[in-house]
Amino acid sequence: MSNALFVEVLLDQSLAKPLDYAVPESLQSQVKIGARVEVPLKKTLKQGTISGIKKTSKFPNVRSISRLLLPHATLSPALWQLAEWMSQYYACPMQKVVKCFTPPNIRKEIQAKLHQTVSLAVPLEEACLQVGKNSQQLEVIHALAAAGAPVALSELLARLGVSKSPVNTLVKKKIISLIAAPMADLSEEDFFSTQPKVLKEEQKACLSSILSSLEKKAFAAHLIHGVTGSGKTEVYMQAIQAALDQDRSAILLVPEIALTSQTIERLKARFQQKIAILHHRRSLGERSAAWDLLLRSEAQIVVGARSAIFAPAQNVGLIIVDEEHDSSYKQSDESPCYHGRDVAVMRAHVEKAVVLLGSATPSLESYANAQKGKYILNSLTSRATSAPMPKVQIIDMKTAYDKAGGFTHFSEELIEAMRARLEAGEQTLLFLNRRGYRRQQLCAQCRHVLKCPHCDLALTFHLSSQLLSCHLCLFHMSPPRSCPSCQSTESLEFKGFGTEHVERALHALFPTIRTLRMDRDTTKQKNSHEELFMQFRSHKADVLIGTQMIAKGFHFPAATLVGVLNADSALHIPDFRSGEKVFQLITQVAGRAGRADLPGEVIIQSFIPDHPILAFAAAQDYLSFYEAEIEERKLFSYPPFCRLIKIIFSGPDIDLVQQTAEQTHASISSLSLKGAHVLPVLPSGHAKIKDLFRFQFLIKTHSSQVLHAIAPLVPASSAHVFTKIDVDPLSTFF
Ligand code: ADP
Ligand code: ZN
Ligand code: ZN
Repeated sequence: MSNALFVEVLLDQSLAKPLDYAVPESLQSQVKIGARVEVPLKKTLKQGTISGIKKTSKFPNVRSISRLLLPHATLSPALWQLAEWMSQYYACPMQKVVKCFTPPNIRKEIQAKLHQTVSLAVPLEEACLQVGKNSQQLEVIHALAAAGAPVALSELLARLGVSKSPVNTLVKKKIISLIAAPMADLSEEDFFSTQPKVLKEEQKACLSSILSSLEKKAFAAHLIHGVTGSGKTEVYMQAIQAALDQDRSAILLVPEIALTSQTIERLKARFQQKIAILHHRRSLGERSAAWDLLLRSEAQIVVGARSAIFAPAQNVGLIIVDEEHDSSYKQSDESPCYHGRDVAVMRAHVEKAVVLLGSATPSLESYANAQKGKYILNSLTSRATSAPMPKVQIIDMKTAYDKAGGFTHFSEELIEAMRARLEAGEQTLLFLNRRGYRRQQLCAQCRHVLKCPHCDLALTFHLSSQLLSCHLCLFHMSPPRSCPSCQSTESLEFKGFGTEHVERALHALFPTIRTLRMDRDTTKQKNSHEELFMQFRSHKADVLIGTQMIAKGFHFPAATLVGVLNADSALHIPDFRSGEKVFQLITQVAGRAGRADLPGEVIIQSFIPDHPILAFAAAQDYLSFYEAEIEERKLFSYPPFCRLIKIIFSGPDIDLVQQTAEQTHASISSLSLKGAHVLPVLPSGHAKIKDLFRFQFLIKTHSSQVLHAIAPLVPASSAHVFTKIDVDPLSTFF
């Protein structure tokens, strides 16, 4: 039995511990840590991932693995190391972490979606001779001859309106050839290729600093702090080229919402290579295709949202996280609650690669890391084009109300500025962080607010659907005629406004104005986001009204005015990151103004016009913002001066959830851990979502040991109470 070999297998279906299996001799040379296998469990076959290899097993009757799945898709040692780090850092069992690395297309062994193209295999005349009088076959041959290049099979069939049978016959006769290749790209369009731009001085300095890191083939982290429009993307593309020149691959992460055709077009226009595009709108077959291309090194560029950081790119040299401050990089709803940016830094570490974090408004954590020298700081302080930075003014809305004699969406200044844009044929962006028509309905008599019966949230009235809707679940209802609480019939009124209302008000003000609205209501359909964006860019509207969706990375050459309607509302959220979020949002929206040849103007409307955060944002002064904010974080001991751990409990029975939270809190407190400060149990900011009650508490700590001491005290999720550990939570309130 000296040749015996055993493996530990993490089954896909969650079980606490890996199980031991024997390896049949025929598979012994192939088993590796990170390989996918099929194994017997009771009377069925299950799938899993090998997490350990050993010569002996302490169990007497272990069964054998049945087969190796997708041997080419075995996790590389570097990715396995990354998974182990995530498991430690986020206090999450390997079973769940490994799930990130083996997405559904891999688990379900989904075949790569193939893209079939056909072309003539012999000269046209010869083809005609061979075919004779078969009219359908002749049609196919002539169409292919006219195209002069390979044609997508589906397109050919659709165009000619024929079945596949003439094609099959022609392939059999070797008159035409059919080639199947994995589909990598979102579309098969060709783009006009662009050449690398001649870099400005600051871009040049930034790139050469990155290149010298790349040459060392060792880990290095760069933070590119570049104002909006400073040409970060151009630097990214030239850095990617440098990595490709070293025959290493590059991963570009972008926020989900920014993953529109715009980013992809820019990359495709620059790189002739295949690009693996990964995001949630792609089918499993398309993802498998991207996976295959990467595993075979046929694609060396990956573009995707958060989870693309787990893509099996080979020999990674460069990882870029664009808009690194963006909250969509954090996974909060599910364990592991990882931050894509931090995983990116760690992946670069294990791959001995260079990581670039880029933003006009870096997160406090990243900028602090640059200050400490952990990251190399590269600053781009001016715009790459001739466009100057926009002129920004803050308007006091109290004064605006006085002048208007009551409520108004728009100050006089904003109205005049919009009028001027309309006359000049330029465009305006209006930003309002709330969708719908009226924010809530309440009773003037008894102050009862109409809330979702399943969530702790007021219902929003939507004009287009004429319904009160919940923004946390799918609940909706017609507005009632009488107050559900006091039955009064005359007293229901609406309060607060959303994007729909702003749109109506604009039409009342400027009857001929053409508007578009971009929020979650208008972008439900696939591609609607892109369509709205294209419509506005081709000037089909004068004004684009939107929620934070419009703040991210878009480029509208003719938009010269940005109006921020409720700049301060988010400042009231009791969370240590509120100020940072508002600063980021305003700076990013303001950055949309005047990016081409036309100068931009930004008008920020606020009821607290003297708030320092607004002043920093208006001055586009990140450094002063940083200095002020970091002082506060230090004073009150918040990240980056401590590490936060949030433990969340939820379930259908409010008492049981609270009890479990209190008990866990008590057992953690009783450890009296040094360097850990356990805060009290509180209902979450949304105390109920979809009929589940939510409680949470926070732990502030300076030591990574604390997490490992407390994690075992958090009960596993049960059918009654779900538990979740969120390390480095984005919000301490919600
Ligand atoms: P950012 O990502 O920093 O907001 P972009 O990369 O979108 O900025 O660049 C803004 C604009 O400047 C784009 O239209 C881009 O083509 C242009 N640009 C970038 N670098 C240069 C350069 N070196 N010379 C001329 N134009 C440039
Ligand atoms: Zn609800
Ligand atoms: Zn009432």
